[in-house]
Amino acid sequence: MAGSFQDAFIKAGVVTQEDIDHKEKEREATIKKEKDMEIVREQVRDMERQDARNRRTEPTEPANPIDKLWRKNRSLMVHLIHAFIPIDKGHVAFDASELHTSNCCICRCRLISKSDLFKKIPELSETSLVHMKEMVEGTLTVEKMKSDWLKITDGTLGIVSKSSKTAFCNVCYREFLTWVQLAVLNGEPHINRIVGKMRAENEPK
Ligand SMILES: [Zn+2]
Repeated sequence: MAGSFQDAFIKAGVVTQEDIDHKEKEREATIKKEKDMEIVREQVRDMERQDARNRRTEPTEPANPIDKLWRKNRSLMVHLIHAFIPIDKGHVAFDASELHTSNCCICRCRLISKSDLFKKIPELSETSLVHMKEMVEGTLTVEKMKSDWLKITDGTLGIVSKSSKTAFCNVCYREFLTWVQLAVLNGEPHINRIVGKMRAENEPK
């Protein structure tokens, strides 16, 4: 036992109680110094971690296709905002004279006009009868219905604007509108500048 050794040494006059107290203080000071050093080392490690994290948050590929376009082709996005917003500027293409492109500007899917769709009505009606039968039998799924229709129409209706040669499919047009609305609500400065300017231009003089 350390205590009994210390007592024996004190009794023998080898060390004094002061010597022991002094040593104890030194030991405590060393422990404190080590603790302080550990705090500093931890801070350095934190800074290194932060640095690594910053390097890792380099631009990564965004999941949303509209985000992707905003990052890669800002001038096209600005054009689309001017041409398709507010919402009443976008409408389904009636015929080839309105549909200037055969692909959606976002997902590149094939686009058709209303008159293309009208030509397919006999085939669509026939398929609808088959679908009704399948629905009764319980074998029709939404996916099957969509894919059967798409096989006949060979594209989806294109949303166009008088001020643009580009076009959207319905799904991408909705995504685009939502994206712009959220950007305005989130105070995205560039989008807010564009929309603010458009509002001022459209205000009655
Ligand atoms: Zn699309």
